[in-house]
Amino acid sequence: MKKIIVAIDGYSSCGKSTIAKDLARYAGYTYVDTGAMYRAVALFMMTDPRCQTPEPVRSLVSLLPEIDIRFALQADGSQHLLLNGEDVESRIRSLEVGSKASEVSPVKEVRRYLVEAQQRMGADKGIVMDGRDIGTVVFPNAELKLFLTASPEVRAKRRFDELVAKGELPVYADVLQDVNTRDYRDTHRTESPLRKAEDAVVIDNSHLTREEQMQVIRDIFNKAVKD
Ligand code: C5P
Repeated sequence: MKKIIVAIDGYSSCGKSTIAKDLARYAGYTYVDTGAMYRAVALFMMTDPRCQTPEPVRSLVSLLPEIDIRFALQADGSQHLLLNGEDVESRIRSLEVGSKASEVSPVKEVRRYLVEAQQRMGADKGIVMDGRDIGTVVFPNAELKLFLTASPEVRAKRRFDELVAKGELPVYADVLQDVNTRDYRDTHRTESPLRKAEDAVVIDNSHLTREEQMQVIRDIFNKAVKD
């Protein structure tokens, strides 16, 4: 069976990472969460003293070569993001960092830096990568492209539940507004806006359980590795 690249794109909170992890486990592939990489860059800008300037984005751009991003495999099979060697996995998951990530992600230099790193990670194939521009920019020749979508309300409810599970006290209306704002930013930016690649398979999972969705994706994957 041949090794392929699976590119999964879609809106925020539509379950991309859950399905990407499930598929990577099923296929024995490496999973790469590119959203985590944008979140790490945002966290760097929010915390590094050299970025506390009147123009933080400009400072960030000049410091990009100093940002080292890696994933460390944990004993339970999950991956934690290391920012310059420090495990920041839980810190990058807050609403605040997510929102900042969608502010830094339109920056051309940030995208170039992270896209190159992502292309290196996929050089040997056998990878499931999720994000916004994987099938369009990072791996336009990926053998399998999936585009996930779900209604904003369903996505806001999922994000709300995730935040509650982490002990935060979110307000549903704020979470919904954040989902809508991020959708707008992600689809309207000039640099690599979120859009479906022409050859991507669209999956609307608003009314699918995780298992139902996984079954659909397993079938598509098995066909892709056989072709
Ligand atoms: O997927 P996640 O919510 O973790 O992504 C955080 C932000 O990073 C998104 O809102 C988006 O702006 C940005 N992003 C991106 N390109 C990717 C992955 C994420 O612009 N490939």
